[in-house]
Amino acid sequence: MLHGKGTLLTIDLTEREAREENIDDVLQSFVGGRGVATKLAHDRIPFDADPLGPENRLYFSSGPLQQSQMSFTGRMNATAISPLTGGIRSTNAGGFLSRNFVETGHVAVEIVGESDELLAVHVTDSGVEFEEVPQLEGAEVSATSEYVEGVRDLGSEHLVTAGPAGENEVRYACVMTSDTRAFGRGGLGAVMGAKNLKTMSFDGDSAPEVEIPDVQMEVHRDAAQSDDSMKRQGTTGGTEFINDNFSLPTRYFTEFSFEDADKIGGDAVEEKKYKRGTCSQCAFGCKLPTRDEETGLETEGPEFETVFSFGSNAGVGDIVDVMKSNELCDELGLDTISAGVTVSAYLKSEDEFGNAELVHELVEKIGRREGVGDLLAEGVDRCHDELGVENWTSKGLEFAAHDGRAINGQGLSYATSNSGADHMYSEILGAEYSGELDPEGLEGKAPFLVESENSAAFKDSGVLCAFSSDYATEERIEELFGAEWEELLEIGGRIVELERHFNNQRGFDRSDDDLPYDLPDFEQALDEYYEERGWNQDGTVPESRISGGDGAASAD
Ligand code: SF4
Repeated sequence: MLHGKGTLLTIDLTEREAREENIDDVLQSFVGGRGVATKLAHDRIPFDADPLGPENRLYFSSGPLQQSQMSFTGRMNATAISPLTGGIRSTNAGGFLSRNFVETGHVAVEIVGESDELLAVHVTDSGVEFEEVPQLEGAEVSATSEYVEGVRDLGSEHLVTAGPAGENEVRYACVMTSDTRAFGRGGLGAVMGAKNLKTMSFDGDSAPEVEIPDVQMEVHRDAAQSDDSMKRQGTTGGTEFINDNFSLPTRYFTEFSFEDADKIGGDAVEEKKYKRGTCSQCAFGCKLPTRDEETGLETEGPEFETVFSFGSNAGVGDIVDVMKSNELCDELGLDTISAGVTVSAYLKSEDEFGNAELVHELVEKIGRREGVGDLLAEGVDRCHDELGVENWTSKGLEFAAHDGRAINGQGLSYATSNSGADHMYSEILGAEYSGELDPEGLEGKAPFLVESENSAAFKDSGVLCAFSSDYATEERIEELFGAEWEELLEIGGRIVELERHFNNQRGFDRSDDDLPYDLPDFEQALDEYYEERGWNQDGTVPESRISGGDGAASAD
């Protein structure tokens, strides 16, 4: 079966040394990306590690498809314990890093320990260099890129960077790459910051040979020829459809539709788009470089989730204001979903919905942990009591836009997800919006959810973009990987199970698979979900499945 090739590079920031390791056995069982990083994290990070302490490990990993010529493969995975949820977290980013990363000859990089000085680490196919960079303390993301470009002649497409938010350990700081792309959710930028690691560069000419079947060109051709509206409006194209027919959470989740959705949705974003945007090798090109001629403001996005978090949910109905929030988050290195939802919680507490100037001020303060920003930097789960507002999180992660109150299977997905209220953890929302599944109710949805979580976990290991499913069909993926779809889903299932087992050891159980709202037959659906997975009814994984026995997750 197709899997990633290359070595694991472990970089010890405490000792400032690096070593290479053969992990072919892990690659054969877990393919690459999220799968390989999850297996390594599960086996190597102490279960009681402090997410912001030296014992936490941060992984960057690619998969076999990062050496293909196929669209939808310009992505990379990052994994660590999340400072926001306390559980294991994988997140992936697009942009142009993936090809530069694999050219180092490594399929995965593991960061351990912590430095006593702010560091830039440079990884090439001939070794690792540690550079103390005290002058970059507090530097924004693009300024950090400019520094590396000046010193190393490497552009931002070679970098992963923690912005000021990461350095300040904002719990939802992200890791930025290519300046505007984010390993977004769960606070892995704070893990980088806690390790005193400002930026890492990847460069080389030593990608191992991976033979990719010819079907890759069929996927690529279809992506190039497609006239899908996502090519013009990216993820924002569905804003008004969702607002009109389902729910676009508005004013901190107190309303289900936004009267100014048309002013911040797909058409409004397309009007500001000034060129095509894409990731490495992707002919689909759904990204959204936007510019406001009047103010000169330029950013990439906003995506649909940002249109929700800094638009409808904040009561802000001007696309330029949303673009400004997006740009600030990129420079500071903040997850736009968690940042926007936390800001909206504050707006609710102060009755200030729609105050865009205040929104921008709060984002700056969060990134720098100044004033009230220090409280908001902790996220909604930790600050809602003080603000006197509802806790719109699951497992400590702020909710994404797709509203489980309107598409109930997505609600169940938020609850069972090992990473909290994460809309990318399964693929069920597409089935509910399209009518393939009745959006109402949970009857019979647990098996569908299990399969779609497994599918997402496998694709995150390939690494294959979540927007590829109309082009990289199940049949084509079977041909690409040389395996039956069921076998690939089993790999995805093993990844989900290892994540769950890791979280169980950190105290997570059924009581954490919860929501701040009621869904019909929710407890019964949870029962069915655990049964389908072969787990205990308290939401834990039987030890026998990990350490042997009938062990789904033991395949190492
Ligand atoms: S579909 Fe969009 S997000 Fe996915 S790889 Fe292509 S450009 Fe990037």
